Amino acid sequence: MSLLVVGSVAFDALESPYGKVDRTLGGAATYFSVAASFFTPVNLVGIVGDDFTEKDAAIFRGRHIDVEGLERVPGKSFFWAGKYSENLNERVTLATELNVFADFKPRLPERYRASKYVFLANIAPDLQRDVLQQVTKRPKIAALDTMNYWIERSNADLRETLRHVDILMINDIETRQLSNEHNLLRAARHIFKMGPSTLIVKRGEYGAMMVDARGVFCVPAFPLEEPHDPTGAGDCFAGGFMGYLASAGNRGDASLRRAMVYGSVLGSFCVEKFGLDRLRTLKRSEIHGRARHFAKLTQFKL
Ligand code: AMP
Repeated sequence: MSLLVVGSVAFDALESPYGKVDRTLGGAATYFSVAASFFTPVNLVGIVGDDFTEKDAAIFRGRHIDVEGLERVPGKSFFWAGKYSENLNERVTLATELNVFADFKPRLPERYRASKYVFLANIAPDLQRDVLQQVTKRPKIAALDTMNYWIERSNADLRETLRHVDILMINDIETRQLSNEHNLLRAARHIFKMGPSTLIVKRGEYGAMMVDARGVFCVPAFPLEEPHDPTGAGDCFAGGFMGYLASAGNRGDASLRRAMVYGSVLGSFCVEKFGLDRLRTLKRSEIHGRARHFAKLTQFKL
């Protein structure tokens, strides 16, 4: 089933205790679409500048990723710089340069307008809404990610966009910031009043939690001895989650739970190497192998 994503395609500068890169391809929509394309074809909407070369675009080739919706304009692509703490749990943003994103007016190619699954990756909430409005029929699932940058700068816009989405997928700090609630279950109740009926809280090395009217479901993060760079893990989680759901074609409880596991699987591969490096070589068989490992990891008898 068709899966649409809008979000950043970017260049990142990354620093972790395991190394440093001054400029590498990144962006939420890039991580998301590569992760999701292991399950289903993806239509990508975004914008890049003329510093984005054919070599950069190679990440999308040979995968089921349609880039007709990736606009190319004169100027510099979105740039983000981040630095991780010793234990990789905290990160500071050193730079966010919107560049060509500042004047971006997303325009969906005709073929994308009937998308049944839509992921609004972390980008300005008015752009997320703009994309949603161009989808002709209400999608089966519209999910949204955001971050402190937008919660602080564009709160009213974000609230308006949230009224039209089914799933909110954010990390624990953002959940608390958006809801003004420390307890995540109480935070979920607040967030349900804003529009989404499902909240997925990404908790880094502590896994992820899904809350909806049926209750709570948790998946661990895959235990890794040497994670290198958490950048993009949240977007890969979202890609695995939405990609699996779109391929399953329904939003029943069993599918949502399996989607949580595939999200966690993709997130775990992402952090094994810097930037997109691990995803470049990842194989479907490895994904399914790790999903089976997850089942063992959490199996017990009562
Ligand atoms: P994550 O680690 O999942 O939060 O995603 C990291 C990716 O998000 C990086 O590759 C950045 O290029 C991108 N990113 C960081 N800040 C923003 C922002 N304010 N808007 C859109 N994308 C961003």
